[in-house]
Amino acid sequence: MIIAIDGPAASGKGTIGKRVAAHYGFRHLDTGLIYRAVAKSVLEDGALDNPADAIRAAQSLDPFRFAEDDLKADEVGKAASVISVIPEVRSALLAFQRDFAKSLPGAVLDGRDIGTVIAPEAEVKIFVTATPQERARRRALELKGRGQAVDEQAILADIVQRDERDTNRAVAPLKQAPDAHLLDTTHLDIDAAVRAAIDIVEAVRAGRGRG
Ligand code: C5P
Repeated sequence: MIIAIDGPAASGKGTIGKRVAAHYGFRHLDTGLIYRAVAKSVLEDGALDNPADAIRAAQSLDPFRFAEDDLKADEVGKAASVISVIPEVRSALLAFQRDFAKSLPGAVLDGRDIGTVIAPEAEVKIFVTATPQERARRRALELKGRGQAVDEQAILADIVQRDERDTNRAVAPLKQAPDAHLLDTTHLDIDAAVRAAIDIVEAVRAGRGRG
């Protein structure tokens, strides 16, 4: 079984994906980390404004080269949203994600285009969202928790800019698949959001399904 979870930055999709996968004993892939790994390679060995550097990094990517903590840095996320608009970068990363989606007994992938491009055949698609203000509040809390100084207004501006870039790009933009279930987590804590996601999976499995 494939469970596709898409949504904007800081919507909670990563945590939901990880916990839903643990619940069912499935493998989990946070596809944002792959784009972040390409971006980090470019930041280290190339120029962000040179698409050829990003394409080369994507084509020769070792997805396990960097520690997850280093990939989670804000500047890497921003750089990832820049290189992810390049069609050749996206196509270089396609096979790895599609192979992963075939993992047995099942796989949960989260990202921006899982239900639309990577695994349109996924049995369960969930589109996770929350207001930009709530996502900025969560991101600020997370950064504070790591002892970093935060400017919530700057975080909000960054989230809005990232949404804009991800939604309006020509290839594989962030958008809800027509058969995806919408999960708005604005008023849910993470436990309630995970429960809601599992309820969606169970409803689909029981054949009460879509819509
Ligand atoms: O989800 P995360 O914030 O880690 O993703 C970083 C960036 O990578 C996103 O802003 C988006 O531009 C890009 N991305 C993508 N397609 C995916 C996952 C991430 O374009 N499937």
